[in-house]
Amino acid sequence: MMAEAYQTFVEKFPGLVKKDVLLAPYTTFKIGGPADLLVEARNREELVAFVLSARDMNIPITFLGGGSNLLIGDRGIRGLVVRNLTQKIVIMGMKGAMNELKTSGTVYVEADSGVPINKFVRYTVEEGLSGLEMHLGLPGSVGGAVYMNSKWTNPVGYVGDAVYQASILTNSGEVKTVPKRYFQFAYDMSILQKTHELVLSVVFTLKKESKELLWKQANESIAHRRATQPQGVFTAGCIFQNLSESDALTFATPGHSRSAGYLIDSAGFKGKQIGGAVVSSVHANFIVNMGKASASDVLQLISMIKEKVHSQFGVTLKEEIQHMGEF
Ligand SMILES: Cc1cc2nc3c(=O)[nH]c(=O)nc-3n(C[C@H](O)[C@H](O)[C@H](O)COP(=O)(O)OP(=O)(O)OC[C@H]3O[C@@H](n4cnc5c(N)ncnc54)[C@H](O)[C@@H]3O)c2cc1C
Repeated sequence: MMAEAYQTFVEKFPGLVKKDVLLAPYTTFKIGGPADLLVEARNREELVAFVLSARDMNIPITFLGGGSNLLIGDRGIRGLVVRNLTQKIVIMGMKGAMNELKTSGTVYVEADSGVPINKFVRYTVEEGLSGLEMHLGLPGSVGGAVYMNSKWTNPVGYVGDAVYQASILTNSGEVKTVPKRYFQFAYDMSILQKTHELVLSVVFTLKKESKELLWKQANESIAHRRATQPQGVFTAGCIFQNLSESDALTFATPGHSRSAGYLIDSAGFKGKQIGGAVVSSVHANFIVNMGKASASDVLQLISMIKEKVHSQFGVTLKEEIQHMGEF
């Protein structure tokens, strides 16, 4: 039955559907088996058409942004994987004073969900628009950053803070505009993780600010990343969430630290290797794929870390990365 549906889908979009494609190259971890079907949406119309058609044919759908927060299973993903390469950025409108002297103006900018968030941050900084500058260097797409409510710690800021509204494709196939509050943003959390709706585009509300000041702040984030995170290696960023303030106070973490990386380091994991996966010696909350790691190598490391941190500190670490597909 599914083979027939796949064939119908392939015929509906001639030349656009790839079969049995390894997903590892589409992730920053460079891990993951094949997708039965893969399409790349270059604009919003294609994105909607792929999703609605696959739904009509009862083909399961998985959305891929920049693949930077994922552990995809070694057996890959059944059904259709939609890579989001939508690219449009539009300044929607302005409110308030906008001349050189008065810099209090609010500017609304809309980005397609497939726009790389780092490219979008550069664009806003270059336009002298404040709200996202601390996220310079964040991998992934605008859609993934909204799904995860991605964050920066120094100074603290969440991508969701700057969201004004978004256009989503609901599970009943309707394109709908929803306000920021719809997303129920919290730490590593948005409602999309429950609803699995697709974000098509996002309108951000940003403030006019001096370009020089914004570049200074943005470059400080990049410098902090370079100083604290492993560079030029295959990772999915932090594997675990940091602890909540109340957990850090409740459990006997050294110095009431909230940092998952600090606990993993204190439990002796830096440099611990299983197969091709190793705990980074730069930042213990990063697992590095040395080149040939499998998802199962990473899973084994994750469960060893969870067990030891739990027995040593009483803390149950929660994963930040998303698992996808079959393991
Ligand atoms: C080196 C490195 C540094 C990192 N630094 C940070 C950091 O500072 N802060 C931080 O918070 N994270 C960080 N991350 C994690 C990751 O970059 C973010 O979570 C990022 O926002 C994920 O976006 P993505 O497009 O890659 O999502 P993906 O990994 O592709 O997908 C993540 C989830 O979002 C869903 N999704 C993607 N697009 C859409 C859409 N349009 N609509 C609905 N759902 C969608 C996917 O289905 C999936 O469930 C880092 C990762 C790496 C590799």
